[in-house]
Amino acid sequence: MSTLGRVDGVAPDLIVPLVGYRQWRLVGGLPTSVYDGTPWPNGSITGSCDRGHSPEEVPAKNCSCGVYAYYDPCPRTASAATADLIGGAVIVWGQIEAHIYGLRGRHAKIIALELPISRGRKRRAVIDAADRVGVPAVPHRSLKAVAREHGEVLAPALRPKKTLTRAANVWARNGPA
Ligand SMILES: [Zn+2]
Repeated sequence: MSTLGRVDGVAPDLIVPLVGYRQWRLVGGLPTSVYDGTPWPNGSITGSCDRGHSPEEVPAKNCSCGVYAYYDPCPRTASAATADLIGGAVIVWGQIEAHIYGLRGRHAKIIALELPISRGRKRRAVIDAADRVGVPAVPHRSLKAVAREHGEVLAPALRPKKTLTRAANVWARNGPA
């Protein structure tokens, strides 16, 4: 079975989930959007739009709506500076919009959280959050391998080589929502 049912510019319709990576802030023991504070109940989320796109239109081209994920894991040190910033892997499915560094999708689900470099309180908090969400907490070096058990990587040929849309500029400015 092919990963892609239809390829329309940079917005493929996905049959097999895609793997992505992102960060969250731990709030009340749950992964929560770094940018707007939206919690990920049960570790999953469906993107919405505050500019009027219906759920069936998310992620819309030329908009910033949808759930964001990077193609590559965030650097190992990216979550180290704060007590509540954590990294992990997701699968994304449904319609997607591909950008240079990552994609916007309609649905996403956490499949693994990344153990912090430090031991102690934060490490325990990540393990607790992973238990609540029902996913493993794994070392950074294992994240890609664990993720690939759940989905496929968007082929580089399907990723835009440069910024094509306003949405991609929003991505660059604000980072993943
Ligand atoms: Zn929108």
